[in-house]
Amino acid sequence: MSFFQSLHLNNNGNGAAHTIKSTRGFRPRDTTSSDASQYQNPHKEIREYAESTLGSDSALAQAVKLPKDEDLNEWLAVHIVDFYNQINMLYGTITEFCSPTTCPRMTATAQYEYLWQDPTMRNSSGGANKQPISMSAPGYVDALMVWIQGFFDDDMIFPTKMGVPFPPQFQTLVKTIVKRLFRVYAHVYCHHFDEVTELGLQVHLNTSLKHFVLFAKEFNLINKQDFGPLDELVTTMLAEKK
Ligand SMILES: [Zn+2]
Repeated sequence: MSFFQSLHLNNNGNGAAHTIKSTRGFRPRDTTSSDASQYQNPHKEIREYAESTLGSDSALAQAVKLPKDEDLNEWLAVHIVDFYNQINMLYGTITEFCSPTTCPRMTATAQYEYLWQDPTMRNSSGGANKQPISMSAPGYVDALMVWIQGFFDDDMIFPTKMGVPFPPQFQTLVKTIVKRLFRVYAHVYCHHFDEVTELGLQVHLNTSLKHFVLFAKEFNLINKQDFGPLDELVTTMLAEKK
């Protein structure tokens, strides 16, 4: 049995109905952040969160589909905020195990290292820093979350007012965000799965990943090669009986 096959892929069978938040009135606000206070009781929080928002596998598969009469960009925006929050909370549960000492590079197995690139970041000589750089895992995750939060806070990109259009490049941006958020799952699975299991959160992690992948595939937001070391796990998850 491989490492990934040994993971418990199913949720515990509780058939809690999946709750689809109304996209109207739900805005990407108060979603962050690096404020450690939100992690004061992460286990309780993530359990409650998972129970309230995630249901059975079939509910997940159904829930990602664009509802009739819903605006695609609005649907994407709400889910990106949702996944950002999920990943923030899940990563928040293992931050004590993920330090620049334990994880000096943002890796997923020895075969993959994710380099950080932010064209808006300035280098020491004041020029745009387009060179991808190696960062510690917590440094990368922090940079990623701050980078995404910047878009949530920008009304021109994630409009919060009714009737304000999304920018033309919105879906391209969403793909980049999805690709980068997936890397947090990859790091957690490959380097912190034991700790997640010890915390009893593996079912929530699996359900969250499955939800994320189902959504990303539904709207072609991620490529197979982006699954990297989780390709086998993702394939197994998606092959499960719906
Ligand atoms: Zn780590």
